[in-house]
Amino acid sequence: MGGAASIGVLALQGDFAAHARALERSGIAAVEVRRAAQLPGLDGLIIPGGESTALLRLMEPEGWEEALRDFHRAGGALFGTCAGLILLAREVTAPTQRSLGLLDCAVERNAYGRQIDSFVGQGTLRLDEEESEAEMVFIRAPRIRTVGPGIEVVAWHAGEPVAIRAGRLLGATFHPELSPESALHAYFARIASSRMVEAPASTQAT
Ligand code: GLN
Repeated sequence: MGGAASIGVLALQGDFAAHARALERSGIAAVEVRRAAQLPGLDGLIIPGGESTALLRLMEPEGWEEALRDFHRAGGALFGTCAGLILLAREVTAPTQRSLGLLDCAVERNAYGRQIDSFVGQGTLRLDEEESEAEMVFIRAPRIRTVGPGIEVVAWHAGEPVAIRAGRLLGATFHPELSPESALHAYFARIASSRMVEAPASTQAT
């Protein structure tokens, strides 16, 4: 579509303000999204980290789950970080939990164990075929246990996938908004601004 993408940050729960600042560091204006009615005006939406169970509960009264599926079906891009990735995943374990089922992966919640459930590591990003090192902040993070065939891994930490993409869906187990560089936010803005003609494979029923 050309021009700057209009990116929203779901502002119901979690660290949405840090995402807005990360977008702004990349020169992208961020819209705080509190009502599902705001979605049709956006190219992309970030679902921040926080607590996925709490987020699901807050989303229920306004029919957010259906609204987010509709947004994605209509070509909207979604980027889930940590709890946001848990919401996007096809399957959630530890414990099992309802999810949007849009991103073809299985995630295990709080999977780094109690003693080290928060840490800062160094990982590798591969965005648009370009590799770079990046700081990654993991806070009670999930682990991506399996990915479907249409999934592209775009970040690794200790040999494991920690960020994945399928078409207009992006998910990360860590918190890119808490590190100084905003490469993933800029990448998401590029995804959101290039409206794809065809729906990504991940939206097709299996
Ligand atoms: N442990 C949280 C959950 O299961 C996610 C943590 C986070 O988003 N930083 O929802």
